[in-house]
Amino acid sequence: MRQNDWIYCTAVGQDSHRFMTPAERASQPERPLVLGGLKIPDEMPLAGNSDADVLLHALTNALSGLTTRNILGRRADRLCLDQGITDSAVYLREALADLASGHWELVHISLSVEAARPRLADWLEPIRDRLAGLTGLRAGQIGLTATSGEGLSAFGRGDGMMVICLVSARRPDLV
Ligand SMILES: [Zn+2]
Repeated sequence: MRQNDWIYCTAVGQDSHRFMTPAERASQPERPLVLGGLKIPDEMPLAGNSDADVLLHALTNALSGLTTRNILGRRADRLCLDQGITDSAVYLREALADLASGHWELVHISLSVEAARPRLADWLEPIRDRLAGLTGLRAGQIGLTATSGEGLSAFGRGDGMMVICLVSARRPDLV
């Protein structure tokens, strides 16, 4: 068997979460806002069964778009509700394992965040570095932009956060 060429593919993933209500916040005062695997201090956390890491969920969904094996939903619910695993990095690892078993090599990740809060300017580089660590890519292969959305949507009004992720990957075209 020899490698003839590369097959390139792209896939999209999306996710959104609302911020916790003050009552929910009061019942879980230790819960942090988690974005891209980083704890962002002094910000209202997002609501969800897991750590509600909207960036990692959008990325995981995009990887599922490549592998056609969905993680978020039944598989993540099993990890979260049955095994108590709320760290979204574990869900991402499942998607990366599916990717590897399909001989896919990730070549680029592009993430676009819509949110009025928190202010992400100072966090973009640390999050890219963290995503590089989680995926094995270089930070230079990971694009991350953020827009306030001008108040046009619930995300732009500060009710929650929404992320769209596009992933590009290649695999050998074996003949
Ligand atoms: Zn989610």
